[in-house]
Amino acid sequence: MTKEELWQAVLAQIQLNISPANFATWFKNTEVINTKGGEVVISVPNSFAKEWLEQKYNKTIFKILHTLDENIKDIKYIIGKQELRITKKERIEIPLIDQLEFSEFKLDKETNLNPRYAFENFIVGPFNELSQAAGLAVSKNPGFIYNPLFIYGGVGLGKTHLLQAIGNEINKNFSEKKIKYIPAEKFTSGVITSIRNQEMENFKSKYRQIDVLIIDDVQFLAGKEKTQEEFFHIFNTLYEKNKQIIISSDRPPKTIPALTERLRSRFEGGMIADIGIPDYETRFVILKTKTSEKNVDFSDEILNYIALNIKKNIRELEGVLNKLIVYQKINNQILTPETVKILLKNTIISPPKITTPKKIIQVVAEFYDLKEKDLLTLSRRKEIVYPRQIAMYLLREELKNSYPFIGRRFRGKDHTTAIYAYEKILKELENNEKLKEEIELIKQQIYNF
Ligand code: ADP
Ligand code: MG
Repeated sequence: MTKEELWQAVLAQIQLNISPANFATWFKNTEVINTKGGEVVISVPNSFAKEWLEQKYNKTIFKILHTLDENIKDIKYIIGKQELRITKKERIEIPLIDQLEFSEFKLDKETNLNPRYAFENFIVGPFNELSQAAGLAVSKNPGFIYNPLFIYGGVGLGKTHLLQAIGNEINKNFSEKKIKYIPAEKFTSGVITSIRNQEMENFKSKYRQIDVLIIDDVQFLAGKEKTQEEFFHIFNTLYEKNKQIIISSDRPPKTIPALTERLRSRFEGGMIADIGIPDYETRFVILKTKTSEKNVDFSDEILNYIALNIKKNIRELEGVLNKLIVYQKINNQILTPETVKILLKNTIISPPKITTPKKIIQVVAEFYDLKEKDLLTLSRRKEIVYPRQIAMYLLREELKNSYPFIGRRFRGKDHTTAIYAYEKILKELENNEKLKEEIELIKQQIYNF
């Protein structure tokens, strides 16, 4: 059997066992280039395919190869032959894109700080310079300059990034200080659990030992009186001891509904700074910087087009970049401005994207090589639980389905399971580049992107 025949035989087997979409995505342009010494070398078109074959299909491929030829003991995947044909520019790019998957960072369990968020990669423009300057000042002299520091601005504009950067910077400058970053929602559930378990004293005393308390999205405390009361006490204790408190919200303290007057006046007692919407120049700089961080190189014409058209917030700018990077990676071709225009048409004009729960479940099942009914069973196997959580996340994110509806769709699972799944995936997406790419790919299949 020649190596071509060998690989054809393997592909024929695999094709029988996985969905056509997956087959096309992962096995297109693969070939066996060597079979010496019991090692089969398979060439794949890009790093993405390499990783997927190694992680998801290696066992199957090996089994088939071994039945075809007992002498085969090992498989190696290399990124392709195609390299010979690519232009100089591409050659620089491809190995670098590889790093995308390794740019995951670890969250510190004690502080909840993520080193990904730093001042060094926080881009400053007219829209956020006041907040940035205030944050930097606080991190040089925590507790004594602006206390509390209250940062507000719309979604996706960099509040979490800035708060975390302040925490990381203080950590660097004053390693002995105890820092804690916590989203207000999580603080609330901490209060509720402590009340339920009668551990309120313990809860409070833990917070009283903190030197720098960072509370993100404080608007979530609106209407939660008991939580506000506990927070008020913790706030006072820390404030009196000159401990730094940093707060973010999507709106200024004055306009947070159902915020007790005493808490509002505490918030207004320090420095209040806002983050606005970045102007065109800053959007361009952001794109330029982010592409270089991600080690991709899009032409200025492309970046200009994105900067002119994507205006809402920085998260959206990043989203578009990721989409383009994934596209470039899968297709292993340099993006042209024309392709970008076509790819972004949906994002810019944003016609209502149409899909259904059925379609989402079907695509997710196919993507992970499961049967739809596997996804809908009660199985707790990891290979099923994770895709199921992703499907639940997508029903929520793409269709805004209610949690009880999502629960019912998955054979009467409780709505709390759906909430848990949604939040888990959302959280993971913050740091997991690989998951981001997977979800981007799934969405592309859902919308036939
Ligand atoms: P918010 O908390 O206001 O909703 P985030 O802090 O989560 O927004 O920001 C959304 C994304 O945009 C994050 O990935 C963040 O790193 C990025 N980002 C926001 N502002 C900046 C900035 N000034 N420079 C670089 N990246 C930014
Ligand atoms: Mg945030």
